[in-house]
Amino acid sequence: MVRLLARECLEEAGMRVVEAEDGNQALDVFALQQPDLVFLDVDMPGKNGFQVCEEIRANPLGKNVPVLIATGADDKESIDRGFQVGATQYKTKPVNWPLLSRDVRYMLRAAKAFLDIKAQENKLRYFAYFDHLTELPNRRSFSEQLHRNLLAGQETGRQTGLIILGIDHFKRINDSLGYERGDQLLRNIADRIHGCLASMGHVISDHTHEDDIVHDEGLVLELARPGGDEFSVIVRDAVDEQQLEAVGLEILKALAEPITISSQHLVVTPSVGIAMSPGHGDTPESLLRNADAAMHAAKSDGRGQIRHYDESLNRDAAEKVLLETELRAALELGEQIFMVYQPQIDTRTGDVAGVEALVRWNHPELGNISPVKFIPVAESSGLIIALGDLILRKVNDDAVSAGENFPDSVAISINLSPIQFTQSDFVTKLRETLKDIDSRFKIELELTEGVLMSDASTNLSKLKELKAIGFDLAIDDFGTGYSSLSYLRNFPIDTLKIDRSFVVDLGNEGGDGIVKAILSLSNALGLRTVAEGVETVEQSRFLCENGCTLIQGYLLAKPLTIEDFVKVAKNNFTHQLGIRS
Ligand code: C2E
Ligand code: CA
Ligand code: CA
Repeated sequence: MVRLLARECLEEAGMRVVEAEDGNQALDVFALQQPDLVFLDVDMPGKNGFQVCEEIRANPLGKNVPVLIATGADDKESIDRGFQVGATQYKTKPVNWPLLSRDVRYMLRAAKAFLDIKAQENKLRYFAYFDHLTELPNRRSFSEQLHRNLLAGQETGRQTGLIILGIDHFKRINDSLGYERGDQLLRNIADRIHGCLASMGHVISDHTHEDDIVHDEGLVLELARPGGDEFSVIVRDAVDEQQLEAVGLEILKALAEPITISSQHLVVTPSVGIAMSPGHGDTPESLLRNADAAMHAAKSDGRGQIRHYDESLNRDAAEKVLLETELRAALELGEQIFMVYQPQIDTRTGDVAGVEALVRWNHPELGNISPVKFIPVAESSGLIIALGDLILRKVNDDAVSAGENFPDSVAISINLSPIQFTQSDFVTKLRETLKDIDSRFKIELELTEGVLMSDASTNLSKLKELKAIGFDLAIDDFGTGYSSLSYLRNFPIDTLKIDRSFVVDLGNEGGDGIVKAILSLSNALGLRTVAEGVETVEQSRFLCENGCTLIQGYLLAKPLTIEDFVKVAKNNFTHQLGIRS
């Protein structure tokens, strides 16, 4: 009778009604039809309305569905019971049938509003916790993951592994691809890493997994993308560092295969840093800092490498901080920093045709500090701008003070950091600072391949500008970077500097071939060549015979103070070159 009346009233109001005979059937019908609203009578054969409501609520599909219960009694106890089992609304019998459809409508509208808010909340949660590009958890989720794992570890006494991956040279790749394809590349990388981790264990990374229930016993890995070109993997209950290294190696392998993006085949390598809690840090901050330090060490080890955190990395970091502080002070004083000059000898005449200016830092307590150490510190701290300016001023002043003893025929080479080069007022500043010497000497600027590769179009116009006002341009350490032969044709380059590592290899298998190839390439393009780091007569002879233009190295002269340089500037070095005795 109740069912019949309910059906009539609701159908009349345009709703569809499905009925069940008893409590058990009600549950089946609910599961099958997933209605928008459930209307239960407390008095039913089999399970009663309270029990059915309770079971519907236990079903994930029934969490939010509005449930209306018709109770026989108006007593407080059964109403309480109804709410306890999760009823949304109750009606005491006899039901006021004419009002039922209105109440049902009202409940449906409230339920929809609730679901809308839920959906909105989920969306906000998604944006707050997930990176929309790769759909991986973002930095915020990552921090929470780390926090949660370390807390759990403290309780269980188990270790947590943290692997940080940085994609090598991502900025450069991104610049050359354009942002859209750069994004695509990141998505591909994320998929590769995800796929590779999934083959090793259970991966938690998905926003659809509301709660991280893990059923299997194997490795549990949490993947996230905390930053631009950085990915993180948390290894729950890590066993030892070998296990973490194995995960890192699999990721390296997974990325070794080229990734194809609009028919371009790209190979990316990550640098991988590994740290393990509690040994390498028992707070999220310290563990992350140390994994990060290991990743940066992997980058400076030559990229595409895996490094584990160890104490020495902290010492390195502390040393960098000290150097930065001291360098800042030295730049203010200006006295501890000076230039030395290494002659470059013309292989045909034996005369000094050029000189490379190299910076030196003599610290009162730390002694002589190598530019190999302090230039990177200057670059990462921004001090390179002030240091670069000081270098230009010193070269200018040294050449002025040397006067006539510094022959005009000697070209002066100055090293530039890529960061100096990106300053917008760089060209003006360069002219200003070198104003006393730039008309008297040929000045050559030594740039690395990186400058040509990143942000090619802006740099190309700057290089053309420099060339137009009379500076020559050299590529330093040629062959060690991302040699793309096309830039040799596109950029207004004058000189290639053959890196010392190739000169050292002369006489070894394969070594001669590379140098010969560079020499014939540059001859074909009409470029000068300077071989750096020449230490033996054999090296010199080979270079002279194969048409190298200039030779620079300890065989001929070490970098000299300006006073010592002017003493040899007019000497002839034919004898030392080892040719024409
Ligand atoms: P680089 O430009 O490739 O400089 C060549 C380095 O090789 C110099 O080291 C030089 O002293 C050294 N060298 C020269 N001949 C020989 C040789 O026969 N055998 C060996 N083993 N080494 C030789 P240095 O002066 O320590 O400079 C190291 C690097 O620091 C330079 O590499 C350059 O990248 C950077 N640097 C030096 N001075 C400056 C500067 O004024 N500005 C900038 N931005 N970087 C500089
Ligand atoms: Ca150089
Ligand atoms: Ca070099």
